[in-house]
Amino acid sequence: MESTHLEPLALPAEQDAWLPWVQERASTGLREAGLEVAALKSAPVGDGAILQVWNDVQVALSGVFALSSLLTAVHPDAAVVEAAEGFQIEARRFSTDLYLDADVFAQLDSLDASLLDAGAARVLEDTLRAFRRAGVDRDEPTRDRLRRLNQRESELSQTFSRGIREGRRTTTVAAAALAGLPQDYVDDHPADNDGRVEISTDYPDTLPFLIHARDPAARRAVAHQFLDIGWPDNEPVLAELLEVREEKARLLGYADWPSYDAEVKMIGEGPRIPEFIDEIAAASEAAGRREIDALLEYARDEGEDVIDFSNWRHHLEALKRDRHDVDAQEVRAYFDFAKVRQGLLDVTGRLFGLTYTQVSAPTWHDEVTSYDVALAENGERLGRIHLDLHPRDRKYNHAAQFTLVPGVLGRQLPEGVLVCNFSRGLMDPDHVVTLFHEFGHLMHHVLGGRHEWVSFSGVATEWDFVEAPSQLLEEWAWDAGVLQGFATDRDGTPIPEDLVARMRAADEFGKGFLARTQMAYAAISYWFHQDRPDDLTAGLRSLMERYSLVALVPDTHFHAGFGHLDDYGSAYYTYMWSLVIAKDLFSAFDPDDLFDPDVAHRYRDTVLAAGGSRDAADLVEDFLGRPYDNRAFTRWLETAPEEAR
Ligand SMILES: [Zn+2]
Repeated sequence: MESTHLEPLALPAEQDAWLPWVQERASTGLREAGLEVAALKSAPVGDGAILQVWNDVQVALSGVFALSSLLTAVHPDAAVVEAAEGFQIEARRFSTDLYLDADVFAQLDSLDASLLDAGAARVLEDTLRAFRRAGVDRDEPTRDRLRRLNQRESELSQTFSRGIREGRRTTTVAAAALAGLPQDYVDDHPADNDGRVEISTDYPDTLPFLIHARDPAARRAVAHQFLDIGWPDNEPVLAELLEVREEKARLLGYADWPSYDAEVKMIGEGPRIPEFIDEIAAASEAAGRREIDALLEYARDEGEDVIDFSNWRHHLEALKRDRHDVDAQEVRAYFDFAKVRQGLLDVTGRLFGLTYTQVSAPTWHDEVTSYDVALAENGERLGRIHLDLHPRDRKYNHAAQFTLVPGVLGRQLPEGVLVCNFSRGLMDPDHVVTLFHEFGHLMHHVLGGRHEWVSFSGVATEWDFVEAPSQLLEEWAWDAGVLQGFATDRDGTPIPEDLVARMRAADEFGKGFLARTQMAYAAISYWFHQDRPDDLTAGLRSLMERYSLVALVPDTHFHAGFGHLDDYGSAYYTYMWSLVIAKDLFSAFDPDDLFDPDVAHRYRDTVLAAGGSRDAADLVEDFLGRPYDNRAFTRWLETAPEEAR
């Protein structure tokens, strides 16, 4: 196969070579995309080669997007980051203009889909739909209005995010309210002359306080500020954002924003979203109520008679300590970073029939480790991965998979990057799960990176499916047999099976009521877009009362600081939707032999390797031998963790 001979991208060996390299590579990519667009426009109408040229445009443009967003997130040199940000903006502008270019659309629309093979026909259909969704086929005044609405939407979205980022608040509490908090936290919060300390709404400040502080009134005061981030300034911004989206959807011929948004997702239709929310809410009702009742016993012991957003973390922590007896220090002793990283490669290599060969090629930072990924059965190189796993100044501070190069069959090897912020010594067990999760995206990127059409490459699947492969891989990070292969303490003793069982039980307690909280957020995300209530605070209250088993703290305005109303829009249901499918996918594996190559390789070849070349529902059906359903998920929700195997 010709892809055997593809070479990975050669990155600059010297730090000062990066800036000219990025400028050269990104500007070449944009210039090539421009030339291909010109070629596409001047091709004879109806010429089958038009679609190939369109693919070339996409290859050039996706390369610029990938490189610029990766370097913005990871490069240590501010000048490189600045240049990358500039190219990111240019690529976005290029893309916006492209999808409103009626001449390009007309050329693509002149193709006869019946003369194309299945893959090409799918590319054509997806592409024409993307142009229509941008409004290219509307009259000039409508397109003008759409341009203005797009502009306004991005301004409002920036204002809303800024309101959250800059909406930091503080609560002043008596120093005595720090009782229960770890010593390093207490040391970081010295009292002023009046014996008072300040707790900010930053996560590292607020979350430990809500978990450990013993004073209910102080917890409530801190929670109140936390739940009011962005309030009141963000409320009118949000209201206008919802209006702008609604108008845009209607101008494009859709009934409402959720219908517009759902069209390109697995869920398909807007009205299916509240149905799904109600299904999950019903499935988690019994388990959730049981859990809340158990938490209430703890609350009553401390003189509280309700579980609300100021105290659930605190009582949940106490319950887990009592019931499951998991000591964080004891657990961490088994998760040495270097052993975990090697363990992850061993586990996924065995599971998917892959070999990883470490390579010493230069990258943007010394701590990055790179590996060539090959098929174990014949040594064929599939791609290259880069693991950038420790924190440093100015680096992206969450965990995510980034693309360096999108794979294209016979043209370019897929290369992906994991960007995380784990400690260099002993790891928290939830970071181990995060590492497996993100690696699931990386596997999808590499294994799905061998298609002729770049728009099928890797994780280019429906957005409400994309988490499923990662959620599935998390299961391997919870299996005692798997963990014992690499989670060993300093003396080499593997993690005890009963400790893993207690960790899992502790992690899973709360899945019922937390699913209800997620569905409350999903309902807010949907109904705010669907109904656009005049009084958003009243709308919030009624949806929380309907779905959340945790009570709202009175007179708070969570929606003003709920950033996912911006980036997820009406589609906050997606994570749970993927999880339902992940649990169903996992049901095909044998719990006594998670590495059974028949199942694992079939999953690799039918689901991951397919990338976006077919609808996710069809891939899942091929793998399972039946359409997916929510039985495995419901069983998981209803099984108390102690009984779970
Ligand atoms: Zn993910």
